[in-house]
Amino acid sequence: MLNEEMIKLGTQKSVIRDIFEYALSRIPVVGAENVLDFSIGNPNVPAPDEVQKAILEIVEDKNPVEFHSYTSAAGSNECRDAIAENLNKRFGTDYNRNNLYITCGAAAALNIVLKAIISDEEDEIIVVAPYFPEYKPFIEAKGGKMVLVEATGDLQINMEGVKKALSEKTKGIIINTPNNPSGVIYSEETLKKLAELLKEQSEKNGAPIYLISDEPYRELVYTDEKITWVPALYDNTIVCYSWSKSLSLPGERIGYLLVPNTVKDWETFMAACGGAARILGYVNAPSLMQQVIAKCIDIEPDLEVYRKNRELLLSELTEMGYNVAKPDGAFYLFLEAPDGDSLKFMEKAKEKDLLLVPGIGFGCPTYLRLSYCADHEKVKKSIPVFRELMKEYK
Ligand code: PLP
Repeated sequence: MLNEEMIKLGTQKSVIRDIFEYALSRIPVVGAENVLDFSIGNPNVPAPDEVQKAILEIVEDKNPVEFHSYTSAAGSNECRDAIAENLNKRFGTDYNRNNLYITCGAAAALNIVLKAIISDEEDEIIVVAPYFPEYKPFIEAKGGKMVLVEATGDLQINMEGVKKALSEKTKGIIINTPNNPSGVIYSEETLKKLAELLKEQSEKNGAPIYLISDEPYRELVYTDEKITWVPALYDNTIVCYSWSKSLSLPGERIGYLLVPNTVKDWETFMAACGGAARILGYVNAPSLMQQVIAKCIDIEPDLEVYRKNRELLLSELTEMGYNVAKPDGAFYLFLEAPDGDSLKFMEKAKEKDLLLVPGIGFGCPTYLRLSYCADHEKVKKSIPVFRELMKEYK
C-alpha cells in the first residue's frame, strides 16, 4: 500500500498550476501576446549580470572537482561568512556562520524548521491569512496542525484572531512580509504587537513560541519605508530566506535559515535543523550556487519593471473602483471581486484571456491574486480588460 496522503498531494494540481497550464493551452489558439497570464510568481526580470559573470568565473577558474563537491551540510564557510557579514552591515547585528544554514530555497528552510519544532501531533502552528498555500502541506506532513487566523480588512495581521488562536499547544507562527499573495508589508507597529502576544503566551506555556519569518520578498519593496528586521523585535525568531525572487534564481534552489543567538538554546535548535535537513535528504544546498552567492551577496535586485507594472495597475485599478490591498512589496496585487465572488470574476476574466488566481487557496475567498512579474506591454493590455469587467458589475 502506498501513502494515500502523498498520492493525493502528488496528483492534486494547485489552482495556480491549473491556471498556468490553461494559459499555455491558449497560446497556440490566440497567440502568446494575447494571453494575459498573471497567474504564476516566476520573476520575469533576468538574474543580474553579476550572477552570470560569477557562474562563468567559477566554472572557468576553479577545478570542477572542487566546484561540484559536497559542501558541509550547513553550507560552505565562505558562503555563510558572506551572508553573516551582509546581514550585520544592514541590520546592525552580530551574526556569524554558526547562525546560518544554507538551504534549497525558502521552501526547504521552512520544512527544516517545521520538522525541527513539531514533535507531537497536538503541536499547532499558526498561519495568518492571506498565506502561501504550501504552508498547510508543509505543516501537516510533519504531523502538526495548522491553525488559521483570518485576515483583517487591511490585510495586516489580525491581532484579535492571533490572541484567540494562541494556546498551550502553539509551537510556532509563520508570517510572510512582504506578503504573497497580497504584496502588503506588515508595519513595525503590527509586528511589535505580535511580539508582545507571543512573549505573553510563551511565558504562560513555559516554552518558546517560535516566530518563523518567511522572507523571500524582503528586498522587493517599493516605498521608502524600511523593512523591519523581525529578530530585533522578538528573540525566538527564525528567518527563512531565499534568492528565488531577489536575484531571480527560483530554479537554482538557494536560500538559508537563520537562528540568532537570542533563540532559546540556539545551538540545540541549530542541531535539530541539521537533523531535520538530514532526514529530509537535503545533504547540502547546491554547491555552485553557494559560491555564486558568496560572490554576489551585495547585489541589489533591479526593481524597475516591477515598479512600473505596480504603479500602472494600482493607479488604474483603484481609479476603476476596484478594492486593492496596499501592495508595497513583492510582485503581487490582491484585488477584491466587485461582488465578492472571486470564482465568478476569475471565469469572466478567463473568457477574455486574463488569468488571475482566486483567493480561496490563500485563505481570502473574496480576493484574486495578480502576479505582475510580467511584461509591461501585457500589463498595459490588461487595463482595458479590467475596465470592461468592471462595467459588467455596474
Ligand atoms: N514562501 C513564499 C511566501 C513564497 O511565495 C515562496 C515561493 O513563491 C516560497 C516561500 C518558496 O520559495 P523558494 O523558491 O525559495 O523555495
